[in-house]
Amino acid sequence: MNAPGAGGQELSWLPSANLPGADFPLANLPYGVFASSVGPTLGVALGDRILSLRAALAGGEFAGLPEAVHAACAAPALNPLMALPASLRRGLRQRLHGICVAGAPHPERLESMLAPQQDTRMLLPADVGDYTDFYASCDHAANVGRLFRPDHPLLPNYKYVPVGYHGRSSSLGAAPEVIRRPCGQRLGPKGESEPPEFGPSRQLDYELEVGVLVAGGNPRGTSIPLAAAEEHIFGLCLLNDWSARDIQRWEYQPLGPFLGKNFATTLSPWVVTAEALAPFRCPPRPRPPGDPAPLAYLDHPGDRAHGGLDMTVEAYLATAAMREQGFAPLRLSRTNLLVLYWTLAQMLTHHASNGCPLRPGDLLGTGTVSGPGPDERGCLLEITQAGRQPLTLPNGESRKFLEDGDEISFRAWCERPGVGRIGWGECRGTILPAAQPLQPA
Ligand code: MN
Repeated sequence: MNAPGAGGQELSWLPSANLPGADFPLANLPYGVFASSVGPTLGVALGDRILSLRAALAGGEFAGLPEAVHAACAAPALNPLMALPASLRRGLRQRLHGICVAGAPHPERLESMLAPQQDTRMLLPADVGDYTDFYASCDHAANVGRLFRPDHPLLPNYKYVPVGYHGRSSSLGAAPEVIRRPCGQRLGPKGESEPPEFGPSRQLDYELEVGVLVAGGNPRGTSIPLAAAEEHIFGLCLLNDWSARDIQRWEYQPLGPFLGKNFATTLSPWVVTAEALAPFRCPPRPRPPGDPAPLAYLDHPGDRAHGGLDMTVEAYLATAAMREQGFAPLRLSRTNLLVLYWTLAQMLTHHASNGCPLRPGDLLGTGTVSGPGPDERGCLLEITQAGRQPLTLPNGESRKFLEDGDEISFRAWCERPGVGRIGWGECRGTILPAAQPLQPA
């Protein structure tokens, strides 16, 4: 018998996993990939440590599990694990739980396989083939729509179609990382009465999002019914969709986001699995009265019962001066994934509804998670009203958009009385000055 911890959680033999408020208790066991002397290596976060799956495999800790699980644990990315049937993934998770739980027979064997997280460089968790970013927060869509198109902020398709665009997987990076300010075409001070200029973005922004990593995919020409969509979700990471608003505003019509978005997107290194999230599932927030019901292919009793996820997400800003002067990062927003108009399963089902093949390791972003309240806006475009209401910082600085040296970090967690708490760690990125703009030869 293992005594539950303060939050009702089962304890590990590793003390740091049992601390109140720990992001990585035994109940979490998120997967990531870290750099080691033998190349990219799968790891599991426990407390303040990383357990190497390659070392655990070599040490015989996964004896008796199927060969496909062994091969996945030795791979340099999570894709082979994501491709396994859910039953095999659950088997590995149970084994990891069994060797990490307090009272496990040989904890001393595992100690040499643990590395401190703070000394470890994390890599992208998956080899992401395709990346799609949705627009699932109705509040975000309406807030941005009002700024870009005051006459008709929310387009008539919004409440029927989970809107998205295809992103660029080559621009993904693992946190913590530095982001170079992009250059691009943007309108000058006189607007459309003059030709656009080319130069460093003056309206660099972040977007607070959650990323869904796809498990087993679907062959081209087939779809994924909503009732089966959850089986195609491997887990969730945090996602910062860095956005250059001036470039975006000039280029986005008629085909949508392009170079204002695809210069950099930062992912948290840890992927919290669907199994770890199960205790925090709940009904999605009901649609406002008068809104249309989803079309039949986007409706299912299971999704109505537990398609939601009670997940708190936060964004923080620390400027270079704030860090130098010892100011704590300023919280810019705190909201919950339950504000989304579409469930993760609805987005996934819609994506494959035309026969588009999804593959293990594909990434779906939720879009900026913004709620209805003033403290729930997930990007500076909304917070400063496109720069019209600058934000005052604790050290007296102000911001309309991000400046060089600014650092944005996201945190997120799920918590329920009697169940406990699991978190994602941090997703941090820092802005570097633009490279010299391209000049004609
Ligand atoms: Mn986005």
